[in-house]
Amino acid sequence: MGQYLIGNETFTQDHPDLEAALARAYAAKTRPACLCHSEPGIPMYIAFVNGKYWLKRMPNSGRLHATGCLSWEMPEVFSGRSDLYGSGLTFEEDQVKLKRQFDLSRRGAPGPQPTSSATAEKTSVKSEGKKFTLRSLLHYLWAEAGLTQWDSSSRPRSWSYVYDVLSEAAANKAVKHGGLQDYLYVPPFWSIEKSGELQMNRPARFAAASNGDPKGAHKLLLLIGQLKDIKTQEGKDPTVQITHIPELSFLMEQKLHDRLMKHFGREWNLRTSAQTVKRNLIIAATFYLAPGGVPAIEEACLMCTTEHWFPIENIYEGNIIDDLVKTRRSFIRVLRYNRAKSAIMPTLLLTDHGSEPVAMYVLDPDNRTATSEDFEQAAKEAAGVENPKDGDSSDKGATNAPPREYWIWDLKTGSR
Ligand SMILES: [Zn+2]
Repeated sequence: MGQYLIGNETFTQDHPDLEAALARAYAAKTRPACLCHSEPGIPMYIAFVNGKYWLKRMPNSGRLHATGCLSWEMPEVFSGRSDLYGSGLTFEEDQVKLKRQFDLSRRGAPGPQPTSSATAEKTSVKSEGKKFTLRSLLHYLWAEAGLTQWDSSSRPRSWSYVYDVLSEAAANKAVKHGGLQDYLYVPPFWSIEKSGELQMNRPARFAAASNGDPKGAHKLLLLIGQLKDIKTQEGKDPTVQITHIPELSFLMEQKLHDRLMKHFGREWNLRTSAQTVKRNLIIAATFYLAPGGVPAIEEACLMCTTEHWFPIENIYEGNIIDDLVKTRRSFIRVLRYNRAKSAIMPTLLLTDHGSEPVAMYVLDPDNRTATSEDFEQAAKEAAGVENPKDGDSSDKGATNAPPREYWIWDLKTGSR
């Protein structure tokens, strides 16, 4: 469990006085430190978002932390995030700057734009993308919010938790024309008691995406929410229903709906086919206000998650993650960002097995381009296991860093 130095005192992450200590340190501008290695510790910072104090690692400092620490960031070789460094993702002190491929503004009348980026998801399935697509931004925020991490002290997570951590994760991120928070709309947890207040507050938030001047450009907002359903009806455009926004639906053009199902049908099926396990579907979508104040989606992507919000790409990953959560193991879910679905990546890194992470791969039967040999090779390279040269199989210990362990589950042969 994490230990932090705040002022002269040491706190564990579940210490009852941690919140009060963070409030005092925030007011006094004291920089806390993580003690995952030893004193004096690794500098952290305190953020104040949604009325709560958050202890956060400094941008780009994740690799200084110990493997089991919640602030640890996986080595670049495993993460799709590393493709975005330097172009899509740059750092300036406490600020993180994001460059996007998708639009956060639109011009003119409702309907598809001539340069509509609704097809931008096509580019997100290419590996060359150096800027954020909707999918890679969703992955990035998910990881920044800590929704990809689990350890023995983690508790069950509700949407209210997801709302808090996503809002916090967006706090120090900037896009071209301002803070990401100015664009992001994550629906707050809905309850019957709060429904009146939520319904009153929403128009002011959504107003930013209305088209005051039909000839001028205006903002799009970025919705990240739990998808409840998409209702389709013959002769009418589909409507998208979001959990925690029960009062209204979002419009989606039929063409966009068809493209969404073409690119994210797998995510849709994963949720619909789940019977004895709970699966959630997350939608990230840009939207504007069509005439009458009705929200209309401009571009969208889907992500399927487990009950505890870990993104999954197939039922086998879901089974493994459910099992690790149940047995209280520590792990980090690895995300693709802009990498192609065919690119070989570990499902997760186990972080409670020795001082180095263990990469766990699932050889997905849908992946027709990669063989089990390809997986073995990629896993070995990422793990830093030296590939013996021809006729020189005794050449061991030539690398300085000890090789990391890896684990491959080949679904075709059942071998692990
Ligand atoms: Zn640490």
